[in-house]
Amino acid sequence: MTTATEPLKAKDYKSDTRVVWCPGCGDYGVLSAVQKAYAALQLSLETTVAVSGIGCSSRLPYFLKTFGFHSLHGRVLPVATGIKVANPELEVIAFGGDGDGFSIGGGHVPHVVRKNTDITYILMDNHIYGLTKGQVSPTSNSGMVTVTTPYGSPDTGSVNPLSYVLTYGGTFVAQAFSGNPKQMADIIQQAIEHKGFSFVNIISPCLTFNKVDTFDFYKDSMTELPDDHDSTNLVQALDRAINPPPGRFYTGIFHKVQKPTLIENLRNINKKAGANKNLDLNTIMDNYKP
Ligand code: SF4
Ligand code: MG
Repeated sequence: MTTATEPLKAKDYKSDTRVVWCPGCGDYGVLSAVQKAYAALQLSLETTVAVSGIGCSSRLPYFLKTFGFHSLHGRVLPVATGIKVANPELEVIAFGGDGDGFSIGGGHVPHVVRKNTDITYILMDNHIYGLTKGQVSPTSNSGMVTVTTPYGSPDTGSVNPLSYVLTYGGTFVAQAFSGNPKQMADIIQQAIEHKGFSFVNIISPCLTFNKVDTFDFYKDSMTELPDDHDSTNLVQALDRAINPPPGRFYTGIFHKVQKPTLIENLRNINKKAGANKNLDLNTIMDNYKP
């Protein structure tokens, strides 16, 4: 048993709920890296909240001992934002997959990014819908054969999660691979520590329904960003997100800068509003009386 004075270990963040992902699913590695990052940061079980949408990866909050909220398909970011704004003292970490985040939830992403909402978003990207048994997703490759695209996906292009978030002003944008647990845990830790919106795209293969983007394919393709990478240089980050060397994908922190967060901006507005003595709610409501 852990007492209040003992540091929490990774296993202390594990709930008693049986993990139900398919054997070998990439999401197991992500769960383990999240627990290690939580332990490294000594996150409190009482003030940490895991929020998710719908999909295989969105089950992750069940497997953590912290508070959790399994929301609706695509709605992870607005729910996470609401929790953070209601109680800024909470550490809010959002989890989801490529279908959840960039299909039905895609419209929410730019706004949470541009507001620099102080939450962490960990996306498990397997380039397919896993929970619904293998349909083409927004990050699937063009021409991909799935149960809904038996002659190949007709889409000309796919969503690049990194350039998507970078374009809207993401202040922390990184990519990891679930086959590299040490780097993944380190990146998740830095993402949580970052003040502002942090986005980590984790390549997390679905062994059951995606026979193309497999661990074997990625293990020889993932490359750490070059030593000369300047994470404050947005143009370089975008270039390396969109144009990695042929057949390769970069991992690491593409972009990291400091900007005011949504909570800081709201606090400043509250201060200004509080200084205005005319802003009495009853006075305002009186203006609407017939
Ligand atoms: Fe993982 Fe795919 Fe199984 Fe879902 S269907 S648990 S993503 S391996
Ligand atoms: Mg998916």
